[in-house]
Amino acid sequence: MNHFLPFSKPTIDEATIASVAETLRSGWITSGPKVAEFEKKLSEYFGGRPVRTFNSGTCTMEIALRIAGIGAGDEVITTPISWVATANVILEVGAIPVFADIDPVTRNIDLDKVEAAITSRTRAIIPVYLAGRPLDMDKLYAIAEKYKLRVIEDAAQAIGSTWQGKPIGSFGDFISFSFQANKNITTSEGGALVLNTPEEVVLAEKYRLQGVSRSGWDGIDVDVLGGKYNMTDIAAAIGLGQFAKLQDITAHRRVLAQHYFKLLGVDFEKRTGAQLPPKDFANTNWHLFQIVLPDTITRPQFMERMKAFNIGVGFHYAPIHLFTLYRERGFKEGMFPISEQVGRQIVSLPMFYAMTFIDVERTCMAIREVLG
Ligand SMILES: *Cc1c(COP(=O)(O)O)cnc(C)c1O
Repeated sequence: MNHFLPFSKPTIDEATIASVAETLRSGWITSGPKVAEFEKKLSEYFGGRPVRTFNSGTCTMEIALRIAGIGAGDEVITTPISWVATANVILEVGAIPVFADIDPVTRNIDLDKVEAAITSRTRAIIPVYLAGRPLDMDKLYAIAEKYKLRVIEDAAQAIGSTWQGKPIGSFGDFISFSFQANKNITTSEGGALVLNTPEEVVLAEKYRLQGVSRSGWDGIDVDVLGGKYNMTDIAAAIGLGQFAKLQDITAHRRVLAQHYFKLLGVDFEKRTGAQLPPKDFANTNWHLFQIVLPDTITRPQFMERMKAFNIGVGFHYAPIHLFTLYRERGFKEGMFPISEQVGRQIVSLPMFYAMTFIDVERTCMAIREVLG
């Protein structure tokens, strides 16, 4: 029997492990020189824009909302097809989540539906780049400008992705990344925020650590309510080792995605009734390789049958508006039909840096057995 093939797995190289060991021995294991170095490297990659790191992608988005001054009574538009964190942060700051349905092809939020959902209380949009696939960024920012909205890009899955040759994160308003274990590059847990102005950087640092600011030559003051969201040097050491491989990781994932298309075959959709992702090898970092199953098989059945071939399948995501917490706020079945359909049948096939062509071949052979 073949070894178990998970849908995702981090790869930490020996140089990174050595750097973590060195950090542990250094006597400085919380936020320090490694965090500063990681932020500097990220900032260079994002075209010199200021960057601050945090201990999760979730708190990174929450802090961006706080910096933007978004709170009680404000509406924030986002997609139902994301990790629940994307909507939870809106509730966390006391604002009102408003969903707009997705585009069935890209599976990202439909910008025409975003525009239709804007009211006089709308303050921000949180677009999500599912699987690392960017939106039409020109259209997104044209809408933001027209209605004077802030944008907090949930680019948790999109490090290494580009738009017209520019890295996601190097342009736009706030851009939030996650370095959770399964993301294209990881710090085990962590996040980073690309900011606009020195004033925003000051606020980011305050919200990150109890609201503390320096005042005078030896004093500190606290003038806003901050939390405890700083990244450790241990995490940053992992991040630096991972970041050095970003180009390689992105390139390898794109090659794997191409191999999937080749082996599934040009008639795959016609033959099986399943839907492939858009064929994009220029912009998407292929964080996930997702297909939408035909209605002839349920997702649990598909996952069970793939498991019999020792192949792990993930699912990203269940529609957020149908979770109890959101139903209690008035959302219900039928409100976002495309999200509901995609959310019911979407699966993530194995896709990670250490994966080989043989792994793709195994997966495609199993799919052929399962879907015909
Ligand atoms: C991973 C992820 C998050 C949350 O990031 P954490 O680092 O786990 O807090 C949010 N949104 C999306 C789309 C994600 O993939």
